Order: sequence, then C-alpha cells, then structure tokens
Amino acid sequence: MIPGARLVLLGRQGAGKGTQCVRLSRHYVIPHISTGDMLRSAVKEGTEFGLKAKEIMDRGELVSDEIMGGVVDERLRSDDTHNRGYILDGFPRTVGQAELLAEITQHKPLDLVIDLVVPVDVVLERLAARRVCTDCATNYSVDNPPRYGWVCDNCGGEVVQRADDTPEAIQKRLDLYERETTPLIAYYQERGLLAEVDGLGSADDVTARLVDAIDERRRRSGASSPS
Ligand code: AMP
Repeated sequence: MIPGARLVLLGRQGAGKGTQCVRLSRHYVIPHISTGDMLRSAVKEGTEFGLKAKEIMDRGELVSDEIMGGVVDERLRSDDTHNRGYILDGFPRTVGQAELLAEITQHKPLDLVIDLVVPVDVVLERLAARRVCTDCATNYSVDNPPRYGWVCDNCGGEVVQRADDTPEAIQKRLDLYERETTPLIAYYQERGLLAEVDGLGSADDVTARLVDAIDERRRRSGASSPS
C-alpha cells in the first residue's frame, strides 16, 4: 500500500500550488486541503462566514489567523486526514498560523514543507491568464482552456477568472506573501522541515521534482507510514 504523508506546499500565488497539489494528492492518495477552495465554497454557499470572507478575499487581504486555525483544525480531525495524512495548500500563510499548525499537529507532526519557487515575473503572467472552475476548482488558463468553451472538463462547471485575480488584488496578495508568508521559509528551515523545489517548466517535470523531494525525505527519515 502507498504510504500517506503530511505535507505543506508553500509558494507565491500562481506558482502552481493548486495544480501540483491535485497531482500529489493522487500520487500519495492523500486529501488536498486548500484553504482558499474551502473559503470559496463557503462564499458560494452564501453562509454568513462566507459573506464576510468574500469581502476580505476580494480585497486581496487575509482572513484572521484564529478563524483559519479553527477551519484547519476541524478539517484535520476528520478520518481521512487522520489515517492517510494530507497536503495543505494556502495554509499556513503567516508565522502565527504556522504556530497554530504546530499545536494542531503536535501528536502527528509534518513530514515536509516544500517551497515551490517561481520568480515574480512568471507568476504575474500566469495569474493574468488563470481561469478556474467555480464548482470543483480545477485550474485552467487562457493557453490551456477546457475542451468545450468555458465548461470544466472535470465536472461541467463554469470556468471563470477569479474575482481576486484583478491587477490590484494580485499585487496586494503578492506583497502580503512577501511580508507575511516568506518568513515561513526561515521558520521551517530552522526546524529542518524545508525543501525548495524549482517550479519552472512543464507540470509533469515539476511533479517529478516534488515527488523526488518527498521520497528523498521519506528515505532519510525511514518513514513508511504517516502514523
Ligand atoms: P488562495 O486560493 O490560496 O489564493 O486564497 C484565496 C484567498 O483566500 C486569499 O487571498 C485570502 O484572502 C484567503 N485565504 C486563503 N487561505 C488563507 C489563510 N491561510 N489565511 C488567511 N487567508 C486565507
């Protein structure tokens, strides 16, 4: 049986985290937990929480650490993550969130945190071209659209540009990433948990590099299961 894993993927908006997390989730048979996707489904459901989150997200700002910590804590208590592990995408985003995650995972610590490295000029191009399914969150781009019109190949949902992929919100999110999220690289490096992976090139090449980094980590730690 394929052993599970407890992973975090860091990287700028547009680095390819969403695409790669879906692939890693299939490869290691672990749930892909994207806090952005969780918030977007709350927005879609029109819950009170979703409406508040929408305003923050559309401005390109961050939802508070307490709220996000609560959302992730609840998700990591479910059976699937408990048994197999997970890949976290978009969380943690601040040192405060990393500290909350350390508390949440104290009995089953992370195996590896990967920084997917892509230069700013490349992510700006990718974000301008990015399109996403409003139902299942599959990523597309204007250069790699769905087969039929803007209808998702995966679920038939509508494929659109994200409301927060405007030039102003993109700039704000990238600035916030530099300020709030890049300190996590040093945070995880100090704890011996970080691997840097080049995010340039084809999606297949990047997946192969990620799998190498994860498998190398497993070999070194001798881990065969996430328990
Ligand atoms: P993403 O899809 O990861 O780019 O997230 C979209 C938006 O959701 C972000 O710009 C934030 O407004 C919000 N968000 C997602 N994850 C977090 C988080 N861990 N902490 C705070 N806000 C978040």
